[in-house]
Amino acid sequence: MAFEGAVQQLIDELGRLPGVGPKSAQRIAFHLLTVDGEQIVELMDALRRVKDEVRFCITCGNVSEEDVCRICRDPKRSENVICVVEESKDVAAIERTHEFRGRYHVLGGAIDPVNGVGPDQLRMSELMARLQSPSIEEIIIATDPNLEGEATATYLVRMLAPMGLRVTRLASGLPVGGDLEYADEVTLGRAFAGRRAVG
Ligand code: ZN
Repeated sequence: MAFEGAVQQLIDELGRLPGVGPKSAQRIAFHLLTVDGEQIVELMDALRRVKDEVRFCITCGNVSEEDVCRICRDPKRSENVICVVEESKDVAAIERTHEFRGRYHVLGGAIDPVNGVGPDQLRMSELMARLQSPSIEEIIIATDPNLEGEATATYLVRMLAPMGLRVTRLASGLPVGGDLEYADEVTLGRAFAGRRAVG
């Protein structure tokens, strides 16, 4: 069922967001009709800022408000370990576990031949460039425990093998088929602490 004009447009736009089905889109739209103007302005401001102010860290690819993100700028974090993840939301999930005090590398996705995503579409060459630094000792592969994440991890292991670095992967126990971000903090923290060497 379609609504008139602006209401339907809002439902359509919300419905294009990931994880928002038609029913949720309708529920959010009708909720927004009831909230006061100030809250709408705040929401619009947040949307505008995310477009205008957020960019990607030139070092690690994480979302950042400056050229270099907060994690890369933090002198207290170890330069010796790089944790490779698919998306910025995975950085956030790992940060919540408080298990990791190294740096990240955000690939910007996972290898997914069905949808035309190969290594060249990801930030692989940027990772290789970072690995030229002699301070790096360990690479932790923390891709999602699903098909694309596995393909990406396999590719990384093969690419990193000749470099003589310690390459580790998160321990099993993560829900298979899902996204890293959906694992609870305890499970993800354990998987991190129990990471094993590969390659
Ligand atoms: Zn960064």
